[in-house]
Amino acid sequence: MNYFYKNLSIWLIIALVALLVFNMLKKPAETYHNVAFTEFLQKVDNEKLTKVSIKDDVVTWKNADGIKFRTVIPPNSKALDHLLSHNVTVNVEKEVKPHWFLTTFLSWIPFILIGILWFFYMRGSSQSGGKAMAFGKSRAQLIDPQKSKVTFDDVAGIDEAKEELAEIVDFLKNPKKFTEAGARIPTGVLLYGEPGTGKTLLAKAIAGEAGVPFYSISGSNFVEMYVGVGASRVRDLFKEGKKKAPCIIFIDEIDAVGRHRSAGGAAGNDEREQTLNQLLVEMDGFEVNDHVIVIAATNRQDILDPALLRPGRFDRQVLVPLPDVGGREKILKVHASKVKIGNDIDWKTIAQGTPGFSGAQLANMINEAALLMARKNAPVINMAILEEAKDKVMMGAERRSMIITEKEKKITAYHESGHALVAWMLPGADPVHKVTIIPRGRALGLTMQLPEIERNSHDRTYLFNNLCTLLGGRIAEEIVFNETTTGAGNDIERVSDLARRMVCEWGMSEEIGPITYVQPDPLNGRAGQILSEETAQLINKEVKRLINDAYDRAKSILTENRAALDAITQALLEKETISREDIERIVNNSARK
Ligand code: ADP
Ligand code: ZN
Repeated sequence: MNYFYKNLSIWLIIALVALLVFNMLKKPAETYHNVAFTEFLQKVDNEKLTKVSIKDDVVTWKNADGIKFRTVIPPNSKALDHLLSHNVTVNVEKEVKPHWFLTTFLSWIPFILIGILWFFYMRGSSQSGGKAMAFGKSRAQLIDPQKSKVTFDDVAGIDEAKEELAEIVDFLKNPKKFTEAGARIPTGVLLYGEPGTGKTLLAKAIAGEAGVPFYSISGSNFVEMYVGVGASRVRDLFKEGKKKAPCIIFIDEIDAVGRHRSAGGAAGNDEREQTLNQLLVEMDGFEVNDHVIVIAATNRQDILDPALLRPGRFDRQVLVPLPDVGGREKILKVHASKVKIGNDIDWKTIAQGTPGFSGAQLANMINEAALLMARKNAPVINMAILEEAKDKVMMGAERRSMIITEKEKKITAYHESGHALVAWMLPGADPVHKVTIIPRGRALGLTMQLPEIERNSHDRTYLFNNLCTLLGGRIAEEIVFNETTTGAGNDIERVSDLARRMVCEWGMSEEIGPITYVQPDPLNGRAGQILSEETAQLINKEVKRLINDAYDRAKSILTENRAALDAITQALLEKETISREDIERIVNNSARK
């Protein structure tokens, strides 16, 4: 709807400009030399005129040089007879006049357009939040407690967040108990965490558990083209909320309005600031017995204006983290209960194979599996289907139809074998789970590693092993073909990024020591440092040294185990996808030879 009004006004302006331009470009009145009537008669007598046009009482003609003349003939002058008697060709024109209604209408269009624009503008900035067109209305979506049946059971794997929020449910269910005890219940709760971790779901579940109405709106819905609209929408939203109390007001993407006021460029955004101020005013204005709880969600808690986080506002902040292995297993099971699932599923393995997945991605994975099941006419989702769905969500759909030359295929096979073998040989690297040369998304092939345990922090050895593994692909190509390809582009990007972070963020270079060197990022209000020429050079040197060390390590692994490299490649070319067990067998075999 916002877009509708925005577009409408833009089109109106364009129409207005076009109309003005059109009027200006309209054929200019032609210029004529005026000739006295008597002179005209003389010319006719002297036979100097052979052809004229008459339009009403105006006679026009051209001379031999094309210059235009005209004269006005008096009524009843018998000029026509005169002309005809001298054999002048007379061309009589009649002006075609558009209907009076059309002319009037056309001449009024600009005013009508201006009027409409003005009307919208006034609606936009009207502080009362105009009722007629609902321009300043909140646009929040209301979910009725009777209809939505989201409960805490639907939210899995984030038990700590759930526990923290249970109190809110209690309060909404029985506010009297709390107010009589004189307890101060937080009016604002900020849920923060990566996208898709279930913040919206949690807020809905709170409403569902407490059986109260749930107003939901996104922060970006407040920010409008016209100054004042956002503020008026905030006011409207809270007014509605208070009417339905006890209830929950959920503001998604609060960072859209609540961004740190100094961040985001020097040119302040009046509209956003006004909206934010209104939000603060409303939250400060809560009475103890308003029983409205505002829940906001963001994945950029770091850029929020500190004023939002002050006591009485969003003073309760709850982290909604990405789920760990156990959490992922639980989330998968919640979503699996809605589809037909075979009994061969090893949930633990699947959960292990989806590190970093958010709840939303896991839900999406189950959905993909259901789609695959239908496409394959399978009776249930089995382990193979689930694995396929996982790969699809993780790496994009397979592109079996992609045309790959034999040579490309061979290079890819060596490249992936290089990754796999290096990872296999390095103790402490994540074990290889699967290697494939079936193209997916933009990648020609893939080596998947599975962490044995969920890691929350990484030691230098582990990260260094990662560097080696990432470089393994490129090095295998070099060793075998004595040539480099673009296929390693993404690996190289990741290597550079990881090495730079090891040096600049995690103090893993002895030369530089434990100092962070962070680039300034003014957009997000991060100061950082401007590096001196010397420091920048030192950093580059250290990054390069780290990568060189990893390169040497990986290269010696691959040259020393060339037989295994060839054997893995051969298996890949034959089967396209090989598993951990395959690699184990191949490596053991070639070691024995
Ligand atoms: P956010 O608001 O954090 O971006 P959402 O709440 O919109 O994430 O999550 C999107 C969907 O992902 C949910 O509707 C749900 O299906 C699924 N989901 C996310 N987190 C969880 C979870 N912890 N448990 C169960 N499902 C989840
Ligand atoms: Zn690679």
